[in-house]
Amino acid sequence: MEYKKSTDLYALAETLFPGGVNSPVRAFRSVYGTPLFIEKGEGPYIWDVDKNKYIDFCCSWGPLILGHAHPKVLKAIMEAVQLGTSFGAPSHHSLELAQLIIENNRFVEKIRFVSSGTEAVMSAVRLARGVTGKSKIIKFEGCYHGHVDHLLVKAGSGLATFGVSSSAGVPEAFAKETIVLPLNDKDALQKAFEQHKEDIACVIIEPIPANNGLLIQDKPFLTFLRELCTQYQSLLIFDEVISGFRVGFEGAAGYYNITPDILTYGKIVGGGMPVGAFGASKEIMSYVAPEGPVYQAGTLSANPVAMAAGAAQIKECLKPGFYSDICKKTVDFTKDLNDFCEKGGYPLRLIQIGSIFWMAFSSDRISRADQIDAKKMDYFKEIHQQLLQKGIYIGPSGYEVGFVSEAHSNEVLETASQAFKESIKTAFEVVKL
Ligand SMILES: *Cc1c(COP(=O)(O)O)cnc(C)c1O
Repeated sequence: MEYKKSTDLYALAETLFPGGVNSPVRAFRSVYGTPLFIEKGEGPYIWDVDKNKYIDFCCSWGPLILGHAHPKVLKAIMEAVQLGTSFGAPSHHSLELAQLIIENNRFVEKIRFVSSGTEAVMSAVRLARGVTGKSKIIKFEGCYHGHVDHLLVKAGSGLATFGVSSSAGVPEAFAKETIVLPLNDKDALQKAFEQHKEDIACVIIEPIPANNGLLIQDKPFLTFLRELCTQYQSLLIFDEVISGFRVGFEGAAGYYNITPDILTYGKIVGGGMPVGAFGASKEIMSYVAPEGPVYQAGTLSANPVAMAAGAAQIKECLKPGFYSDICKKTVDFTKDLNDFCEKGGYPLRLIQIGSIFWMAFSSDRISRADQIDAKKMDYFKEIHQQLLQKGIYIGPSGYEVGFVSEAHSNEVLETASQAFKESIKTAFEVVKL
């Protein structure tokens, strides 16, 4: 494959954007080659500017559960956009999207739309602090919640659970308000609550952590978390920016049947347009301005074009069998590859939940960030390169998950599976760790 135009465009991009990109992982820093400039997408496929065609498992990092350029989503966007792009005043599309969510999701009574997942999380944390009047928050190592100051925090050393910022520009005073704990660890959680009992406004978690590998949690851990939050009068925030509308219409809350206090959404909810949302009970949402004292606003919030796209996509997700079909396809795809790896003795296993999958270079169960061996990412690097050459596009980092969309037919997945097998075989021949 030739990547000449992409390479030239990236050279120009490097003069315009830091690292040549507008979001870091796009820069291909942990894989070979330079970023591909994508020209178009249709169904399960994307094409780069050099006219190479790929089966896409990145799917814009999750939003495109129907695949690229779904006709119904495009039609809704066209109809909305012809009437104007933004009014900064209420429009009916937001009602439709909100009703579709609230009527079909037991965990949301009222919702507020924002423009990104980060904004949803930022607002949800402020809301939790506003409701409880407390300031500390607990997050988990290996969960990503957008680039919010208080959440760009990693675990401090030793016994201290206080966080240290993981980005320059985040004041240590902010990081000190964040307590970082290992995932799937009841004891650490209990200790943190005992130590800070009066002070914890909320615990935020990706109930299905999918931003640092796919770190599926034990249900008893999540249940315990719910119980402790109730006991200590802290709010539980499920950050469902990835899992929402992905592992089922009710996301991870429905999947585990655990009721969080606040939920955040993004990605799928916007149908490929910039939308985020946070929702909760009527009572908790009554704290949000102008009804309550927690301020939150947005010039482009509930943008009519974005709302129309979201509503069109979500409607498709509500069709009977939608989630079981897409889940079954993903199970078949990953099982086939796992059988292949087992037979070949390759130390690689695909972890799957719903239509999300991840390549784990370990045969042990992985439910915490520190169980991922960074050295093994050399295998990923080679697999990534092999896959690209065979016309398969996956996120350019071994810590990122893959997504199967409705548009990935069994036939497409069969083609992809063949390419994965060849790439895995080559990678384990070439890379010697
Ligand atoms: C993607 C993501 C975010 C951030 O959303 P953006 O739209 O990128 O700001 C937050 N939380 C989780 C769990 C995510 O996956």
